[in-house]
Amino acid sequence: MSTERDPDCLFCKIAAGEISSDKLYEDDRILAFKDIHPQAPFHALVIPKRHIATLNDFGAEHAELAGSLMMTGRRLAAEHGLPGYRVAMNVNHEGGQVIFHAHLHVLGGRRMKGELG
Ligand code: AMP
Ligand code: ZN
Repeated sequence: MSTERDPDCLFCKIAAGEISSDKLYEDDRILAFKDIHPQAPFHALVIPKRHIATLNDFGAEHAELAGSLMMTGRRLAAEHGLPGYRVAMNVNHEGGQVIFHAHLHVLGGRRMKGELG
């Protein structure tokens, strides 16, 4: 689903400033903030401000937005001096997605370990 806002969505409330977050970056389309349960010394989430539930709900009209999420992750990593980092997006329950407002995880600050999946 893609809509301006879902009234029941946690990340829409964060994007609107109704629930506080530890902001790292913001522009008119994108917000980045620290994950509340970090899985690495640096763990940020990069979200579109508009409500797009999963990566599967990005349409062709959102292609530039999808690229901007990725480039924002890259910029955060550079700003925080991360020599290497991991970006990941969980898609649907089977992909490990818990919050159904698409978000890119950016993790770093130590050597990434483990297998993806
Ligand atoms: P996912 O499993 O990909 O849906 O990831 C959801 C992420 O959101 C998890 O890493 C949570 O720790 C994080 N999270 C949940 N609530 C908040 C919050 N209020 N502020 C920041 N991060 C949150
Ligand atoms: Zn939302």
